[in-house]
Amino acid sequence: MQAYLVGGAVRDELLGLEVKDRDWVVVGATPGEMLANGFKQVGADFPVFLHPRTREEYALARTERKQGRGYHGFTVYSAPDVTLEQDLKRRDLTINAMAKAEDGDLVDPFEGLRDIEDRKLRHVSEAFAEDPLRILRTARFAARFQPLGFTVCDQTMALMKRMVDSGEVDDLVPERVWQEFQRALHEQAPRAFFEVLRDCGALEVLIPEIAPEKVFELAMAALGCVHDQSDAETEERFAAFLSPLDDSVALPRAKALKAPNDCQNLARLVTAFTPQIRNVDPQYPEAEALLDLLDQADFWRRPDRFSQLLNVLECALPSDSGPLNLLRTASKAATGVDPKALLAQGYKGKELGSAIRTERLKRIGDAVAPINH
Ligand code: ATP
Ligand code: MG
Repeated sequence: MQAYLVGGAVRDELLGLEVKDRDWVVVGATPGEMLANGFKQVGADFPVFLHPRTREEYALARTERKQGRGYHGFTVYSAPDVTLEQDLKRRDLTINAMAKAEDGDLVDPFEGLRDIEDRKLRHVSEAFAEDPLRILRTARFAARFQPLGFTVCDQTMALMKRMVDSGEVDDLVPERVWQEFQRALHEQAPRAFFEVLRDCGALEVLIPEIAPEKVFELAMAALGCVHDQSDAETEERFAAFLSPLDDSVALPRAKALKAPNDCQNLARLVTAFTPQIRNVDPQYPEAEALLDLLDQADFWRRPDRFSQLLNVLECALPSDSGPLNLLRTASKAATGVDPKALLAQGYKGKELGSAIRTERLKRIGDAVAPINH
């Protein structure tokens, strides 16, 4: 049996990038031989094993053929006679379809090295069209490698367009879309992900509300701004992306994408706050209105989420920094109200509630008003 380093590890090494996880393909072995050598089987559908010491993944060389529609329609064939080249041929992009032998020789039947040098994302074969997830992966690699100069080559873009036109993308399950989507939000150039999806027509199918040019540009500007805050979380990126939409549109879309609850909630708050923030008069702010916003955001119990909300709104509403600063000021002022102190003064139940509210209003009023008096 022969083991080869494959996929991302070979690609990243050639690009001079840090190699995170190393995947191997094994040619000429049976599952029985792998087990006898101490490997542990992991994949239920595919013959994939973990190395007994390094815990790296070793997959037996396999071919995959599409049978029917949808994601489950793949027939996997694995046997000792499957060649390395056959295994590489089932892969998505040429830069991901190279292998390295233990003696260091590069096995590169689809000219991945040339495409690395030319900075091209190119499909390995027409079989690319059998799996619409590859459109999302290609877009994600564009987002990752655009800063290095990579673009999707014309033939691959044309193939992806044909896939979209033939309805392939309709079959993608939301869980898989979300997985790629959320990874793309954290890549170096998230905008490139959405541009590739837009250019091949997949965006119109997957997130049609964002596809119109003006909305797209607003979404990209907000996302880019949040992205520049280097440690922005997924929910902030996601909420920024949906920020140009009305809340009645954003929330169903977030649900349809099966975004996690934290992402849905922040997107809901951002889109619900947008019209209200625009209603705050920066010259004559009303303490009531500001307190109401803090209540809506549940600032009292969720201060961290509130600061995420402000971060995203600052990116989504760059010309409303006045009201946003007031809201920030109001939150700082109101947070000083100590319910325990009021409790100690004898307030209870409903009265305690209104004493807290009165005190918060007073402090907010004092904090935002001085310029007006
Ligand atoms: P990353 O750095 O994100 O891990 P990677 O290239 O290693 O990038 P993986 O998702 O770990 O990507 O997959 C490993 C390899 O398996 C890829 O390089 C590619 O050759 C192949 N591959 C993964 N998913 C697909 C797919 N849907 N279609 C075709 N080939 C795929
Ligand atoms: Mg990998």
